[in-house]
Amino acid sequence: MRTETVIKLHNTKTRTKEVFTPINPDNVRMYVCGPTVYDRAHLGNARPVVVFDILNRLLRQTYGADRVTYVRNFTDVDDKINTRAAESGRDIGVITDETIQWFLDDMAALGAIEPDHMPRATQYIPQMVTMIEQLIAKGHAYEAEGHVLFAVDSWKQGYGKLSGRSVDDMIAGARVEVAPYKRNPMDFVLWKPSDETQPGWDSPWGRGRPGWHIECSAMSFELLGDTFDIHGGGNDLMFPHHENEIAQSCCANGDDSFAKVWLHNEMLQVEGKKMSKSLGNFFTVRDLLEQGVPGEVIRLVFLSTHYRKPMDWTDKKAKEAEATLRKWRALTAGIEPAANAAAVVVEALSDDLNTAGAITELHKLAAAGDAAGLLASGQLVGLLTDDIGDWAQTADIDLSNFEVLLSEARAAAMASKDFSEVDRLKAGFVDAGLEVRMSKAGVELVPGPGFDASKLEGLS
Ligand SMILES: [Zn+2]
Repeated sequence: MRTETVIKLHNTKTRTKEVFTPINPDNVRMYVCGPTVYDRAHLGNARPVVVFDILNRLLRQTYGADRVTYVRNFTDVDDKINTRAAESGRDIGVITDETIQWFLDDMAALGAIEPDHMPRATQYIPQMVTMIEQLIAKGHAYEAEGHVLFAVDSWKQGYGKLSGRSVDDMIAGARVEVAPYKRNPMDFVLWKPSDETQPGWDSPWGRGRPGWHIECSAMSFELLGDTFDIHGGGNDLMFPHHENEIAQSCCANGDDSFAKVWLHNEMLQVEGKKMSKSLGNFFTVRDLLEQGVPGEVIRLVFLSTHYRKPMDWTDKKAKEAEATLRKWRALTAGIEPAANAAAVVVEALSDDLNTAGAITELHKLAAAGDAAGLLASGQLVGLLTDDIGDWAQTADIDLSNFEVLLSEARAAAMASKDFSEVDRLKAGFVDAGLEVRMSKAGVELVPGPGFDASKLEGLS
């Protein structure tokens, strides 16, 4: 479906919100930097996935689902992976395959649509070698002691423009790896030698492996061409990773090539603090899912903050989001979605992905009792869909029989002074994820976020 939607996006490159005009509306192309695969995705890793999933959905809605090409890579060659393999004694390929599947499962639980292409770096080594050869031939890279380095001085006019720094500023402020073979401390690695214990590929510079940055330049060129519409990622990647991608691609393919629009999402915090292992507030998406926080709840919490603002994850927000979704799902149960999402919701998203504004509009639709409109509009942002809705089904289960059961057991125990049956039932309910409220007025069982009705079967 084509609409007259005008999409505006904040372009990091120009530091302004611009009207988005695709290079080719029949093939809108987006590249987003994906994860390095050696461990479970932490909650912060999930933020760009959800942010760019929203953009992907908006582009598909605007230009047509078959007129958008979304690429997100997997970095499956990296020294962190090598370290993990050495520590665990496991094969690198086994670790990366397993981690990629974890990532896909966890992101699917958040309702993220899989990109059209998910290239793995190790599948594009020949393309990286070709690009490095081009950079050497054009005088932008040089070989030194088995390494190939990008010569930042060869492109002083462009390097640093994205993040708004000069090469001299960057040298002064950056933690650059000093190495005797570098002509300039800012020069970065395109290729490095591998010893026998490290993964390696034959190349004109001996057996070795690519530096991190070159993979995104080579894979975006291969899958999207030398020039494409949107490049995304977390703002922690802006420098050096994205500066280096730009330098490589523009120097290999032509000065004005590569991405036209750059989008960067802000980072995630937990209860107002940076998430870190040392603060003890570090957790993965899987940890939350296993604690019974549904993926849909995580998604709604994420969408409640604009992508260019820091996202603060709090327990309170998760509880509120869960209550909201239970209400919305009850309201839309058995209802057919409206033919189109509400125009106000599309407008909010089109205004630089104002997801918080879109959620406000969903609340208004719910308050107005427009269930069909709420359903269509919620589904546009990946909420209220069937595939992530199983958790809410349990709300429909009739708990009154179990409440009667516990009441009767309590009455019997009062007489016999034997509370073992009461304790057995209570333990079973708690294990199933129910909150047990007992008062003189009676017994009430309230489903918590991790409620699993199947665990009640053996209790009656
Ligand atoms: Zn990248």
